[in-house]
Amino acid sequence: MTTPPRAVILDLGNVLVFHDNALLFRRLGARAGLSPAETESRLASGLGWTAANRGLLGAEGIRRDVCGSLGVDLPSEEFNTLWSSHFTLHEAVLPRVEGLVGRVKLVLLSNTNVLHAAFLRPKLPVLERFDSLVLSCEVGSVKPEPGIYKEALRRAGCEPRDVAFFDDMPEFVQAANALGIRGHVFTTAEAFDAQLKALGL
Ligand SMILES: [Mg+2]
Repeated sequence: MTTPPRAVILDLGNVLVFHDNALLFRRLGARAGLSPAETESRLASGLGWTAANRGLLGAEGIRRDVCGSLGVDLPSEEFNTLWSSHFTLHEAVLPRVEGLVGRVKLVLLSNTNVLHAAFLRPKLPVLERFDSLVLSCEVGSVKPEPGIYKEALRRAGCEPRDVAFFDDMPEFVQAANALGIRGHVFTTAEAFDAQLKALGL
């Protein structure tokens, strides 16, 4: 059997929490009088989403950018509520993550923006027990760029071969593998449990 990893790096979206983007586009679109498809297309074609993930936009910048793309001007309180209205906790996976606390270094590695990070942190108390949270909006680099993985490795204090990484996006797993990290595609809580057991955790 291979040596168990000394650190586990976890993605946030669709791992610890689900994000129903279709619901987000539907709700924002309804408020702006746009179809969900038009809403998605306008948000995708704007620079805001990427800029927000890179930390180039703060809370007010995100509100202005998204509202500008959709042609509405929502007050910040209403916008913030809508903007984070599509998350649900992945309850089934949380006990397994809590079970890793103290056994391995735990690092979060997420492409996210300041509003989503601020919304989710208090809802996921287990994050306070992680060794480090690597948030793209704080480090200024996004997956699949090597820099953000290297930052996560630095914070874990481990060599890539001693680190297991879980993400639901195969592209992001491949980028980790290219650096020598032991990447795994996250699918379900049950599969995650089996993957951890196979790793000796
Ligand atoms: Mg994800």
